[in-house]
Amino acid sequence: MKSQKQSTVAAVATPHGEGGIAVIRISGTDALSISSAVYRGAETLEHAEERRAVYGRIVHKGRFIDEVIITVFRAPRSYTGEDTVEISCHGSPYIASLVLQSLVENGAVPAGPGEFTKRAFLNGKIDLAQAEAVADLIKARTESARRVAGMQVSGYLSKYIDEMRTAIIQASALLELELDFSEQDIEFVSRDEIKQNLLDIKSKLKRLVESYNRGRVCREGIRMAITGLPNVGKSSVLNGLMERERAIVTHIPGTTRDTIEDVLDIEGIKVRITDTAGIRRSDDPVEQQGVMRAKKAVHEADVVLLVLDGSRPVSSDTVNLISWVRESAKDIVCILNKADLEQQTTQEEMATLLPDKEVWSVSAIEDQGMRTLIKVITSHALKRGLPDGQELLITRERHRDAVAKALERVDHAVLSIDRDMSQEFIALDMRGAADALGAIMGTVSPDDVLNKIFADFCIGK
Ligand code: GDP
Repeated sequence: MKSQKQSTVAAVATPHGEGGIAVIRISGTDALSISSAVYRGAETLEHAEERRAVYGRIVHKGRFIDEVIITVFRAPRSYTGEDTVEISCHGSPYIASLVLQSLVENGAVPAGPGEFTKRAFLNGKIDLAQAEAVADLIKARTESARRVAGMQVSGYLSKYIDEMRTAIIQASALLELELDFSEQDIEFVSRDEIKQNLLDIKSKLKRLVESYNRGRVCREGIRMAITGLPNVGKSSVLNGLMERERAIVTHIPGTTRDTIEDVLDIEGIKVRITDTAGIRRSDDPVEQQGVMRAKKAVHEADVVLLVLDGSRPVSSDTVNLISWVRESAKDIVCILNKADLEQQTTQEEMATLLPDKEVWSVSAIEDQGMRTLIKVITSHALKRGLPDGQELLITRERHRDAVAKALERVDHAVLSIDRDMSQEFIALDMRGAADALGAIMGTVSPDDVLNKIFADFCIGK
């Protein structure tokens, strides 16, 4: 797609709020002329050396707005592939909005979310998987999230997938060529060879599909639900964890009967913790709703932190809760809280109730055993598998679905070879597999797919 047909867009690229500087970005065929209209400096922007900082002032309708530093990027050597100008002004949201307004009044159109990255994609500067990874990189709050997004931005995943896609297309092209010579019964490529290639590709695709769980953990973090009867110390345990570890986001508001989500960075892994309402039978409809939500959180969690009060004897409510959690959750970490008080629940009792689980004694209030608890949580997160620095991972459902679809078609093509089916059947499945893989890079992407992806971006990126 040619950039000439597109309007010139502008946006404030830095977050709203006071800061050292704010950056306004303008991209498109008229980026230079529009910026020049409001720029006053020793040299003209049209003649400015590209990618070099230029000092000047923004003046609009005779009114001085701010002193600025401007960088000019000429097409195609810019992020978007179009002429782009970046204006750094003083970091006041008001000044930034005045600069933006001056550009808009000279013909720029305010950019939508992700507009610059979308243009980079449409102009062939990056593929769709790289564009998605730009959004992930901006949202990365942990080392593992940064690492996988960084690998994807650099095109590592795209290259790996594109090599498979190209191999499939080349082989299917030979099969299609055979069709043209079907009367002569010529075989351009041996079926054994194709089959072997497909089997290699199949095992690679399979590994990629399997990597999704680890990839998701890197991108989204693990989901952990804290559950237990009321007053056992769930909130105190959560606070204890928050104090020890860096909390990334403060909790999402809710009532005390609601669920609350906090995000912790535990050893470079994002752990999304839902503190659930105490689970107990209740006639209060509001509380019932809270319990429903708590149950949902436990069902959806990767790890459930079951908190019991060790200073009280095991009640029938506790027994019921334990059996329910055992049925609902895959991975359980159990803690006996209030270890600073005299213990009424013994490890032996717990061993009967939770025979195959480790039970840890902690005191949230006295900060006993909390360091161990963090280690235990980390080991459960790692059990879900964190990649070593180099492992190639897929992190998005969209990619997982595409790879799974390609895998299915490759499988089918192999089956057709085994059954000695004619070329067109084999080639059709191979083309299907190639298309599915191509969708990851956006070689064929309907508008609605693109819109959905770019809507997830911030404005100015
Ligand atoms: P939740 O309802 O399960 O979230 O429980 P809270 O965290 O609100 O705690 C209930 C009560 O138990 C509060 O009075 C806490 O101070 C107390 N508590 C929590 N953890 C401990 C602990 O480790 N030791 C002692 N002695 N008291 C605790």
